[in-house]
Amino acid sequence: MKSRIFHTQSEEETIALGEKLAAELPAEAVVLLIGNLGAGKTTLAKGIVKGLGAAHPDEVSSPTFTLIHEYGANVYHVDLYRLDRAEQVATIGLDEIFDRKAVVLIEWGERFPELMPVERVEIRLRVVEDGREISVLANDDYG
Ligand code: ADP
Ligand code: MG
Repeated sequence: MKSRIFHTQSEEETIALGEKLAAELPAEAVVLLIGNLGAGKTTLAKGIVKGLGAAHPDEVSSPTFTLIHEYGANVYHVDLYRLDRAEQVATIGLDEIFDRKAVVLIEWGERFPELMPVERVEIRLRVVEDGREISVLANDDYG
Protein backbone atom coordinates (compact mmCIF):
# COMPACT_ATOMS: atom_id res chain seq x y z
CA MET A 1 0.00 0.00 0.00
CA LYS A 2 1.35 3.41 -0.97
CA SER A 3 1.56 6.41 1.34
CA ARG A 4 -0.56 9.31 0.17
CA ILE A 5 -2.66 12.24 1.32
CA PHE A 6 -6.33 12.57 0.39
CA HIS A 7 -8.96 15.23 0.94
CA THR A 8 -12.64 14.48 1.33
CA GLN A 9 -15.42 17.07 1.44
CA SER A 10 -18.34 15.05 2.76
CA GLU A 11 -19.20 11.94 4.74
CA GLU A 12 -20.02 10.19 1.45
CA GLU A 13 -16.57 10.98 0.07
CA THR A 14 -14.93 9.66 3.23
CA ILE A 15 -16.87 6.40 2.90
CA ALA A 16 -15.95 6.18 -0.78
CA LEU A 17 -12.28 6.69 0.10
CA GLY A 18 -12.55 3.86 2.63
CA GLU A 19 -13.90 1.58 -0.09
CA LYS A 20 -11.03 2.51 -2.38
CA LEU A 21 -8.43 1.90 0.34
CA ALA A 22 -10.05 -1.44 1.20
CA ALA A 23 -9.24 -2.68 -2.28
CA GLU A 24 -5.54 -2.03 -1.64
CA LEU A 25 -5.31 -3.74 1.74
CA PRO A 26 -3.72 -7.16 2.00
CA ALA A 27 -5.94 -9.93 3.42
CA GLU A 28 -4.03 -9.67 6.69
CA ALA A 29 -3.60 -6.08 7.84
CA VAL A 30 -3.70 -3.94 10.96
CA VAL A 31 -4.91 -0.41 10.28
CA LEU A 32 -4.63 2.30 12.92
CA LEU A 33 -7.26 5.02 12.45
CA ILE A 34 -5.77 8.08 14.14
CA GLY A 35 -7.50 11.39 14.82
CA ASN A 36 -9.53 13.37 17.34
CA LEU A 37 -13.15 12.71 18.22
CA GLY A 38 -15.21 13.56 15.16
CA ALA A 39 -12.28 13.38 12.78
CA GLY A 40 -13.97 10.62 10.79
CA LYS A 41 -12.32 7.39 11.99
CA THR A 42 -15.57 5.46 12.23
CA THR A 43 -16.83 6.95 8.96
CA LEU A 44 -13.71 5.75 7.16
CA ALA A 45 -14.10 2.36 8.86
CA LYS A 46 -17.63 2.15 7.40
CA GLY A 47 -16.17 2.56 3.92
CA ILE A 48 -13.40 0.04 4.49
CA VAL A 49 -15.83 -2.54 5.88
CA LYS A 50 -18.16 -1.90 2.93
CA GLY A 51 -15.29 -2.16 0.47
CA LEU A 52 -14.24 -5.47 1.95
CA GLY A 53 -17.78 -6.70 1.48
CA ALA A 54 -18.04 -7.53 5.18
CA ALA A 55 -21.09 -5.42 6.13
CA HIS A 56 -23.28 -2.50 5.08
CA PRO A 57 -22.05 0.89 6.37
CA ASP A 58 -25.22 1.30 8.45
CA GLU A 59 -24.18 -1.78 10.42
CA VAL A 60 -20.84 -0.22 11.33
CA SER A 61 -20.70 1.82 14.52
CA SER A 62 -17.91 2.61 16.91
CA PRO A 63 -17.32 -0.31 19.28
CA THR A 64 -16.81 2.16 22.11
CA PHE A 65 -18.48 0.00 24.73
CA THR A 66 -18.04 -3.48 23.31
CA LEU A 67 -14.40 -2.69 22.36
CA ILE A 68 -14.42 -5.10 19.41
CA HIS A 69 -16.90 -5.60 16.58
CA GLU A 70 -16.53 -8.45 14.13
CA TYR A 71 -17.92 -8.09 10.61
CA GLY A 72 -18.08 -11.31 8.70
CA ALA A 73 -15.38 -13.85 9.36
CA ASN A 74 -12.29 -11.72 8.89
CA VAL A 75 -12.87 -8.04 9.56
CA TYR A 76 -12.53 -6.58 13.05
CA HIS A 77 -13.15 -3.03 14.29
CA VAL A 78 -11.62 -2.12 17.62
CA ASP A 79 -12.05 1.06 19.70
CA LEU A 80 -9.70 1.51 22.65
CA TYR A 81 -11.05 4.94 23.68
CA ARG A 82 -12.40 3.75 27.00
CA LEU A 83 -9.28 1.90 28.06
CA ASP A 84 -6.59 3.79 29.97
CA ARG A 85 -3.91 1.28 30.69
CA ALA A 86 -1.96 -1.19 28.60
CA GLU A 87 -2.73 -3.90 31.16
CA GLN A 88 -6.45 -3.49 30.38
CA VAL A 89 -5.82 -3.65 26.64
CA ALA A 90 -3.74 -6.78 27.13
CA THR A 91 -6.81 -8.61 28.48
CA ILE A 92 -9.11 -8.18 25.45
CA GLY A 93 -7.43 -10.67 23.15
CA LEU A 94 -5.93 -8.45 20.49
CA ASP A 95 -2.91 -10.70 19.95
CA GLU A 96 -5.16 -13.55 18.97
CA ILE A 97 -6.95 -11.32 16.45
CA PHE A 98 -3.63 -10.04 15.07
CA ASP A 99 -2.66 -13.66 14.38
CA ARG A 100 -5.71 -14.25 12.20
CA LYS A 101 -5.81 -13.71 8.49
CA ALA A 102 -7.99 -10.68 8.97
CA VAL A 103 -8.21 -6.94 8.48
CA VAL A 104 -8.19 -5.25 11.90
CA LEU A 105 -9.25 -1.59 12.08
CA ILE A 106 -8.30 0.11 15.34
CA GLU A 107 -9.41 3.47 16.73
CA TRP A 108 -7.18 4.95 19.48
CA GLY A 109 -4.60 2.19 19.02
CA GLU A 110 -1.77 4.73 18.78
CA ARG A 111 -2.18 5.27 22.54
CA PHE A 112 -0.71 1.82 23.08
CA PRO A 113 2.09 1.64 20.52
CA GLU A 114 3.88 -1.17 22.35
CA LEU A 115 0.81 -3.38 21.85
CA MET A 116 0.42 -2.70 18.13
CA PRO A 117 2.22 -4.76 15.51
CA VAL A 118 5.14 -3.02 13.83
CA GLU A 119 3.76 -4.00 10.46
CA ARG A 120 0.70 -1.80 10.12
CA VAL A 121 -0.95 0.93 8.13
CA GLU A 122 -1.52 4.25 9.86
CA ILE A 123 -4.30 6.50 8.63
CA ARG A 124 -4.41 9.98 10.15
CA LEU A 125 -7.57 12.06 9.85
CA ARG A 126 -7.74 15.77 10.47
CA VAL A 127 -10.55 18.30 10.25
CA VAL A 128 -9.71 21.00 7.72
CA GLU A 129 -11.71 23.97 6.52
CA ASP A 130 -13.51 22.18 3.71
CA GLY A 131 -13.69 18.67 5.09
CA ARG A 132 -11.05 16.17 6.12
CA GLU A 133 -7.41 15.60 5.32
CA ILE A 134 -6.69 11.89 5.39
CA SER A 135 -3.11 10.65 5.16
CA VAL A 136 -2.13 7.05 4.67
CA LEU A 137 1.25 5.85 5.90
CA ALA A 138 2.10 2.30 4.98
CA ASN A 139 4.86 0.70 6.98
CA ASP A 140 6.87 -0.25 3.90
CA ASP A 141 7.56 3.48 3.74
CA TYR A 142 8.68 3.88 7.34
CA GLY A 143 12.22 5.16 6.92
P1 ADP B 1 -14.57 9.55 14.91
O1 ADP B 1 -14.80 8.08 14.80
O2 ADP B 1 -13.21 9.98 14.45
O3 ADP B 1 -14.90 10.11 16.27
P2 ADP B 1 -16.93 9.80 13.25
O4 ADP B 1 -16.60 9.10 11.98
O5 ADP B 1 -17.77 9.10 14.24
O6 ADP B 1 -15.54 10.29 13.90
O7 ADP B 1 -17.62 11.18 12.95
C1 ADP B 1 -17.10 12.05 11.99
C2 ADP B 1 -18.16 13.05 11.57
O8 ADP B 1 -17.62 13.78 10.48
C3 ADP B 1 -19.42 12.38 11.05
O9 ADP B 1 -20.51 13.19 11.43
C4 ADP B 1 -19.24 12.40 9.53
O10 ADP B 1 -20.47 12.50 8.86
C5 ADP B 1 -18.44 13.65 9.35
N1 ADP B 1 -17.57 13.64 8.17
C6 ADP B 1 -16.82 12.61 7.70
N2 ADP B 1 -16.09 12.98 6.63
C7 ADP B 1 -16.39 14.28 6.43
C8 ADP B 1 -15.93 15.25 5.47
N3 ADP B 1 -15.01 14.96 4.56
N4 ADP B 1 -16.43 16.49 5.57
C9 ADP B 1 -17.30 16.82 6.53
N5 ADP B 1 -17.78 15.95 7.47
C10 ADP B 1 -17.32 14.70 7.40
MG1 MG C 1 -15.24 6.57 16.28
